Amino acid sequence: MKENIFNYSRLKLENYFLENGEKKFKAVQVMEWLYDKREYNFYNFSNLKKELQKKLDEDFTTEFIEIEKFLEGKDVKKFLFRLKDQEKIEAVLMIHDYGISVCISSQVGCNMGCKFCESGRLKKVRNLETYEMVEQILLIEKYINKRVERVVIMGIGEPFDNYDNVINFIKIINDSKALAIGARHITVSTCGLVSKIDDFSNLDLQVNLALSLHAPTDELRSKLMPVNQVYNLDTVMKSIKAYIAKTNRRVTIEYVMLNMVNDNIADALNLVKLIKGMNVYVNLIPYNETSHIEFNKSSKERINKFYEVLKNNKVNVTVRKEFGGNIKAACGQLRSESD
Ligand code: SAH
Repeated sequence: MKENIFNYSRLKLENYFLENGEKKFKAVQVMEWLYDKREYNFYNFSNLKKELQKKLDEDFTTEFIEIEKFLEGKDVKKFLFRLKDQEKIEAVLMIHDYGISVCISSQVGCNMGCKFCESGRLKKVRNLETYEMVEQILLIEKYINKRVERVVIMGIGEPFDNYDNVINFIKIINDSKALAIGARHITVSTCGLVSKIDDFSNLDLQVNLALSLHAPTDELRSKLMPVNQVYNLDTVMKSIKAYIAKTNRRVTIEYVMLNMVNDNIADALNLVKLIKGMNVYVNLIPYNETSHIEFNKSSKERINKFYEVLKNNKVNVTVRKEFGGNIKAACGQLRSESD
């Protein structure tokens, strides 16, 4: 079976050429066609010999996923993609004053079962292949005719439940001969799959890591996030500390503000205790309402009070800018269906 060429990192392409008795610099030539000139017909790769063009065409495809639907909000755009097997995923483009960022999906559906999140309404159908993540970006760039500067892997799915493909994807978009997105402009967010956080620590990528914490005690976190019953707070925080010690990088703690559930002063104080002394910053996320009607958005006042407690205790904290609510493009609202 032909493989999609966007699954191939530079290293893998180099090995492919070496195995086929060719020089490894052909890999870079191919990448220049794909990512620089955006030429997807191997027979137009004019600096390669005819036989090599034919060989590439026999071994690879450059088939694309498709944009099924596009929704436009004020400074956010949502793309619904149809995959080859007709499954659907979403990605969101955000226009910030500091540049364009894209939030991409890593799985069809999600098995993590966080009680407040829309994306998990559909259980995981399958992992995305690397090319399906790369192509989300290529298609968005084509659509807007601009380059994407930041990528967050925070759409549908748990990226560390599709670890190998996500790491391969990161390596490709970071490669200077591919999309050349700086490592510090890439963020991967996990609900806390500890064994993978440990693996990630050892990779020595300069990519940002975010942990979806959302509750400062096991009792509450286990109610909101089933993953906590497998990796409790103690285990996940130890692994985050080890990551920080190893990489010397600051970790983002995401904390979604659920009215009267996790936004009390006592929760803020428990959070302060939990992260004391750690090189982290807390991102408070105003809850985007979903079909989980048991959860409501915290009021501005409650968010401010929570924020003040953290500030007064010398925690680095910001409140996430709200995006995309009117077109259901905000955090936790993405899903694998169209309306
Ligand atoms: N599975 C990964 C990637 C998803 S990231 C993770 O859990 O980190 C999406 C972020 O948005 C997570 O922090 C998630 O908990 C949060 N989120 C989920 N539902 C939300 C909602 N309705 N409103 C705001 N944030 C939400």
